[in-house]
Amino acid sequence: MDQAKRAKLMRVERLRRRLPHMSASAFAQTLKELHDDPIDPVTRQDVARARDLVLEQGTPYGPILKELEMELKSGRKDNIWVCCPFAFLYTVSITCIGWANLLRRTLVAHPPSFDAPWRMIVYSDEVVPGNQLSFHNLRKAWVIYYSFVEFGMSVLSMEDAWICLTVITSDHVKQMSGGLPQVFSKLLVLLFGSSDSHNLRKSGIVIEFADESTARLFSDLEMVLQDGGAHKLCWCLKGDAGHKFCVGCRTLFAEKSGIVNGDNNEEILTCNLLLESEQDFATDEEIRGTVLRLAEFARTSPDTLALREQACGFNHNVHNMLLNPQLNDVVRPVTQFGHDWMHAMVVHGVWNTIMFLLILELIASGVGDAPTQFQNYVSLWTLPKRLGSSVGHLSDTFSPSRWTSSKKAKYLKCTASDAITLFPIIACYVLAVFHQSGTAVKACECYLALADFMDLLVTVAHGCVSHEVLREAVREFLESVVAAGWRNHVHPKFHWLVHFARELFLFGMLLSCWVHERKHKMLKRYSNIILNTVKFEYSVLSEVTCHHIAELRLPDKFNIEPRLLDPVKTANARLKTLLEEELQLPHHGMTYRSANAARVNSFEVVYQRDVILFQGALARDDEPLLTGELWQIAEIEGHGMFYLAIIVSVWSKVSQLDDGSVMIVSIDDQDTRVAVLSDVQCALTYRRKDNGEAQVLVPRRCRDRI
Ligand SMILES: [Zn+2]
Repeated sequence: MDQAKRAKLMRVERLRRRLPHMSASAFAQTLKELHDDPIDPVTRQDVARARDLVLEQGTPYGPILKELEMELKSGRKDNIWVCCPFAFLYTVSITCIGWANLLRRTLVAHPPSFDAPWRMIVYSDEVVPGNQLSFHNLRKAWVIYYSFVEFGMSVLSMEDAWICLTVITSDHVKQMSGGLPQVFSKLLVLLFGSSDSHNLRKSGIVIEFADESTARLFSDLEMVLQDGGAHKLCWCLKGDAGHKFCVGCRTLFAEKSGIVNGDNNEEILTCNLLLESEQDFATDEEIRGTVLRLAEFARTSPDTLALREQACGFNHNVHNMLLNPQLNDVVRPVTQFGHDWMHAMVVHGVWNTIMFLLILELIASGVGDAPTQFQNYVSLWTLPKRLGSSVGHLSDTFSPSRWTSSKKAKYLKCTASDAITLFPIIACYVLAVFHQSGTAVKACECYLALADFMDLLVTVAHGCVSHEVLREAVREFLESVVAAGWRNHVHPKFHWLVHFARELFLFGMLLSCWVHERKHKMLKRYSNIILNTVKFEYSVLSEVTCHHIAELRLPDKFNIEPRLLDPVKTANARLKTLLEEELQLPHHGMTYRSANAARVNSFEVVYQRDVILFQGALARDDEPLLTGELWQIAEIEGHGMFYLAIIVSVWSKVSQLDDGSVMIVSIDDQDTRVAVLSDVQCALTYRRKDNGEAQVLVPRRCRDRI
């Protein structure tokens, strides 16, 4: 190394150690930006001022962040900070090209009007940044995000399609009279209930684009998306054992099961009713009536209020949204209720419980090493690269130490995304090994019914699952739980399943909260570095809002068209020659680029070396899909032509299970083809076998096409 280079690197090293910690790539990126566009030194206060400048841009609706007055339990007033939807939507539509592109195409597809408003989804959750185990976590906060049904499932699965309305520390919420319901009530009045011109339902928001064209966006409240905990607080349900925990069911209560969870020594609760046919669904008006009667009781006979609350399953709360006359035609507690299926199924959920019970049943039936068998089997599989290439951590779910910890907790412990990857792989093994040999048959059937139902949940986003099919799958699964003898293990999360079919019918979609969990990461990132917890809420909300505005400026933010993903590089000579010959392209005037990854449709991203399902070039729509290993992804341009192409090695089909869920293919590199990128359907999870064949899991939506 020459002296100059050496001296430069030493300077870099000294500089890095003088600065607060940041990753090597963040450090390198900062140096590059400063080199390209130098900035004079600034103070910390300047950095905050720069952020506030973005938020103080004038709009016809005032500043982006505004204060909203709350009543405290002490009788005093206090303010929370809100990212005003009117000012925010106005600002980002005029200044952020990525957002404007999304809004324009959605306005064309679904023109909003007073009579046909867009349908808003409001989501809330409690986020725990900082030290999760600290006794008194001052950063623990409630967040509320919103978005619109009209964006469609693929866009709604992107973090930046969700706008942060407010961040309030849990401590602050506790100080408020009525707690969370007061926050919800005042926020919904701000959006839909105000009598002045700022009302999403009555006057809409005037949107202006950079080219000075305008539109008016009307919206109504369609869905309140929450997990069980937030749901209970928001609607003032009693929720404890012996009490109501679902706002939409009249006679449903939780009972103590007699089974104690070893993690926290709490008794696991079970539901008194299980099947949909046993439930007694309430209507919006009935719930409103109950809440009004309870309020009347609180006024006239406060002495017996507690008894009355216990009987009807609701707590009286003067700030209950249903008692606010401004929200009379805005809030509908039953029809707007959306339950997040991720929490129900795979966060200490139904799958974790059934998987645990299945292993116990297998052990009891003589398969003492069931966890080890699952561990070994899972380790044989290869996942699509977008899920991370290592299956090591997946199979660890069944390692001896993890199994010991699961036994203590009385459910299989694993992350939500691991559970979603694991469930169909486990189903393959259960079907082929245990069910086939007649071991723990009822338990296996229950697991298979669950896997089938979860497969439908995963497929719902693609719009090819009807509510009738979903309802039938839920019924089959819940009946199989009873048949397996596990009725006493049915905890309240099992109950949410009976609502999913109706939600799918009402909303045309079922949302899960993976996207929100990802969005929380950005919020946590900022809240972890804010030391001043006095101005904490303002600081977090302003940082998150400015970060979001910067993201929405990226032109391709919501681009779901097929394309190569960065980094895109010039194709090497071999690839260029191959494409030139295969496609008989001119030898001059063409440019060839390649990339490691590409978006193939609104849902899927594929990577080089993934095994994919695709439509052969020039194939008719009704011809079967092909399986193959993706070798190259390329973009070809010149002489007025533009192609997105892939080079794929076809693996021919050997056989397939009757229901199409699993296919055996022959691994081969004799048949290499060029195909069109947008003809790729998806990347597959597969297992190479010793005999030159591979076992492939076929996604439900593609099963009738292979
Ligand atoms: Zn219910």
